[in-house]
Amino acid sequence: MFAALALERAAERRDDADWLSAQRAEARARYIVLNPDGRGLARADRSGLRHLSEAERRQFWPEDPVAFLGATREANYFAIAATQPRGEEVSGPLRARWLDLRAAGLSLPAFDAGLFAYARALLYWQTRVRYCGVCGQATTLVSAGHKALCTNRDCGIEHFPRTDPAIIVIVGWRDACLLGRQPGWPEGRWSTLAGFVEPGESLEDAVRREVREEAGVEVEDCDYHSSQPWPFPASLMLGFVARAGDPAICVGAELAEARWFEVDDIVRGLADRTLVLPPPLSVSHRLIEHWLREAGGLELSALMHDEPWLKPKTT
Ligand SMILES: [Zn+2]
Repeated sequence: MFAALALERAAERRDDADWLSAQRAEARARYIVLNPDGRGLARADRSGLRHLSEAERRQFWPEDPVAFLGATREANYFAIAATQPRGEEVSGPLRARWLDLRAAGLSLPAFDAGLFAYARALLYWQTRVRYCGVCGQATTLVSAGHKALCTNRDCGIEHFPRTDPAIIVIVGWRDACLLGRQPGWPEGRWSTLAGFVEPGESLEDAVRREVREEAGVEVEDCDYHSSQPWPFPASLMLGFVARAGDPAICVGAELAEARWFEVDDIVRGLADRTLVLPPPLSVSHRLIEHWLREAGGLELSALMHDEPWLKPKTT
């Protein structure tokens, strides 16, 4: 989910104002809109994002900043960063609804969910780079919204969109995998361990440290599995499969509980609804799915029922 977005970003054209104007002038220019709270405008029936034409943009968001996202054979995509929160006064006439990214990930087609994730990550960064972190002066957005330039001539530093790497890991030991529960999570909810990569760490270092800090378990080695943009608000999740040298657990401050689950524990827990696993849109789900397939020859999708996340919240 949110990954493998088939879009030509045309990064080398972002500074070409004439080219960008031409893209916007074409009939295939399409705008997606994000409210200041990060919700995006989707079609009322959730069959996709509500793509606006240039005429609709002028009617509803004439003054709001626009960033270029990229192009496909069918359309040139732009994102409107709505400066004021808007509600039904626009979603009504546009036959649309405001959807948060999690709900969009569960209900929209993969391309639109990926486009939304990309726009949300970029526009979130824009709201965090209004002032230069070096000299404190205001910045101005350039490069079609992909760069912020300090307006102080003596400084003039360029700020680029940032992504925060985080590792997420399923740790195996013999026939079991390690899952944890955070304080405050609903009863029965378990997930893989995760944490941000710190300065000066390799990804493998971060895997070892996080598993040791959260569960007191020593990781012997790990393999990369897959990654996923995770703009909640600015992460890149990097999934790993690791092996422990010793099953002894000592739960750290971040978790309420950590324990080993054998294949049967997961099968039984899902069957009697005492176990709630992460939703399919997450890397965590994919890691558990991978482990279950390797360890038990079972498909996670065949074991899941009417988990609460299957009913996304919308407004
Ligand atoms: Zn500056």
